[in-house]
Amino acid sequence: MTARILKIAVPVPLYKCFDYLAPSECNETVAAGTRAVIQFGKRQLIGIVISEHATSDVPVNKLRAIKQLLPQPLPAELLHFLQWAASYYQQPIGEALNHALPALLRQIDQQQVLASLWQLSEAGRLQNADALSRAPRQAELLRQLQQHIHGMDKSQLDRLDFKWRDSLRALEKKGWVMRLSQSDAGALVQHRAHIATKPLLNDEQKHAVDTVAASLDNFQAFLLEGITGSGKTEVYLQLVEQVILKNEQSLILVPEINLTPQLISRFEERFSIPIAVLHSGLNNSQRLLAWQQARDNQVQIIIGTRSALFTPLAKPGLIIIDEEHDSSYKQQDSFRYHARDLALVRAKRLNIPLLMGSATPSLESLYNCQQGRYQRLALTRRAGKALPPKLQLLDVRRKPMQEGLSDHLVAAIKQTLANKSQVLLFLNRRGYAPTLLCHDCGWVMPCPRCDARLTYHHYRKLMRCHHCGHETRPPDACPECQCKELINIGIGTERLEQHLNSLFPDKHVSRIDSDTTSRKGSLDKKLAEAHSGEADILIGTQMLAKGHDFPHVTLVGILDVDSSLFSSDFRAPEFMAQQLIQVAGRAGRAEKPGQVIIQTHHPEHPLLQTLLHHGYAAFAKSALIERQLASFPPYSALALLRAEATQAYLPGKFLEQAFERLSLYQPAVELFGPFPSPMERRAGRYRHQLLIQATSRAALQQCMNKVIPALNTLADANKVRWSIDIDPQSML
Ligand code: ADP
Ligand code: ZN
Ligand code: ZN
Repeated sequence: MTARILKIAVPVPLYKCFDYLAPSECNETVAAGTRAVIQFGKRQLIGIVISEHATSDVPVNKLRAIKQLLPQPLPAELLHFLQWAASYYQQPIGEALNHALPALLRQIDQQQVLASLWQLSEAGRLQNADALSRAPRQAELLRQLQQHIHGMDKSQLDRLDFKWRDSLRALEKKGWVMRLSQSDAGALVQHRAHIATKPLLNDEQKHAVDTVAASLDNFQAFLLEGITGSGKTEVYLQLVEQVILKNEQSLILVPEINLTPQLISRFEERFSIPIAVLHSGLNNSQRLLAWQQARDNQVQIIIGTRSALFTPLAKPGLIIIDEEHDSSYKQQDSFRYHARDLALVRAKRLNIPLLMGSATPSLESLYNCQQGRYQRLALTRRAGKALPPKLQLLDVRRKPMQEGLSDHLVAAIKQTLANKSQVLLFLNRRGYAPTLLCHDCGWVMPCPRCDARLTYHHYRKLMRCHHCGHETRPPDACPECQCKELINIGIGTERLEQHLNSLFPDKHVSRIDSDTTSRKGSLDKKLAEAHSGEADILIGTQMLAKGHDFPHVTLVGILDVDSSLFSSDFRAPEFMAQQLIQVAGRAGRAEKPGQVIIQTHHPEHPLLQTLLHHGYAAFAKSALIERQLASFPPYSALALLRAEATQAYLPGKFLEQAFERLSLYQPAVELFGPFPSPMERRAGRYRHQLLIQATSRAALQQCMNKVIPALNTLADANKVRWSIDIDPQSML
């Protein structure tokens, strides 16, 4: 009898698969994508079957047998797509597959996979927990379940500080709690009774919908370019409706779920069918449930962040990427991939259209339109009655400034508040002040683990590093000269908030950054205040540049645009322009016209000039010409090889060894470095990098395929942590 050998992808950072024998009791062919419990060294792991063979490079009597084959395989389409992705991004296949599987399918404990979810019934939702005062545990459980409207699983219940089983049973008996098993469709979603009426599309929207709809049976990439408020979401909604009518599924990717509640509620309001929303607040059972529902065509609308791209789709019809320029589509660690670029590949393999929308498309996508690879669809007017905001550069050179605000901006704030409108101030720097300086000797307080300064956080009275999370008390005196006069230099959102509170003591100032919104529910509360008009002045970091309509905001102040004008990263101007236009787009979305004031010391800067006087499209055009002159992407392909170690000399040494291998492929690829990374030391580790440039992605791939999987054989490979980043978005 011939041996049955299965090639298994194992979740370890190695560029190969491992051979195992099929379990002896297994007679059928084993489908690729099947999950298998294996012994790997001393550990038991779940691997994925890639293929079956009759021979192995390892003697058959040395091979171990698979312990168990598990149900719920990775569907073949998804498996092959992930194999492609792992190979393009030069990531170990086992890690890529592991990244795409829901956590419960990666766990060996089968109890967990079959775990249940408990959710309140309609009656349970209406109960007042206080009425259960004679059963305090039941009351507490009821309260918890009322807070977790999507249900709780065992692991969540186990976190309660009492034994919950009896109380749960009591609530089940009352008919207030239902137990959902994974085959229950619709558990994640609420059914709605009515479908909201839809607006009549304007000509441009209609053209966009008709064009994409005409191609629903084929692959085609579309770029929907429209200023904020021009009705892109409405285009998505009406296309998704057509896909539903064909009994097919739509996958919609958004940059961050918490920051796009409006988009999701518009989908929920429009359609009376289940929607799977994959957000970070889901527990593992809910995530698995959503995965299974998509796989079994029990949901036709799936909305999620970048990793939702790896959702199995029974009847794929359309992929939409909202805010396609957003950098959060790039995963920056472990499995490094770009969800927008990969969505294109998946849509092509599925032979369905891909629709990418943005007010400020990436230069890459605009280039692809120029090349005829994407079809461009434009929305040039704001839908409804809203007018586009007026942008104004404010030259603050030699002007009196207080805590980052010029007199002119303060006057505009006063005026806006007097008109009972809201103000939004944009400052992309958290904390109180980014530098603590000794007035006597000039010492500045560094992070002990990074080449960076510590930021003072007034609210928590702590110095914090924004790169490694290091925290410490502010010193009483300068460690160099013992002087007690230490000054906070620079302005963060906390300091701005404090200043505005003293300027406008009777106004409600609301700061929205990751420090004030980290607690569960706090972001929703802040956003509700902003929408209702309860907050008068909103202070925000980049969080506020995304996805929100603030209908009462009529003045946007951008405090510090200058710091991004002089970055060494070639993508910095693009990001700056996108952020500026996105923040500006938050103003005047209802019937009140908006005004945007940009404070700068460089009013003549060509980038700002082009952007303000000729708009984003003109800016993008000139920026693309600059990229071409400098041979940067999309006119070339890049890869960044990074290495880090606790000893300073090791990363450079390892990269020199890699350089030697790579240099065999010159001149098809050009090599720059190795150099120390822009912040050489971070979290106590030294970092170096080597940039690899090729004239095309194909040329880059050829070289990468040969070199990267073999890097672990280099002399110093096991002394460093190294990683490869194909199409890097950040050079840091
Ligand atoms: P975007 O996604 O481009 O920011 P939206 O789709 O959110 O734009 O549209 C902005 C506002 O205009 C929303 O309140 C939306 O309901 C409304 N709107 C969109 N299209 C139309 C239309 N054809 N007629 C009337 N109102 C519309
Ligand atoms: Zn000093
Ligand atoms: Zn640090």
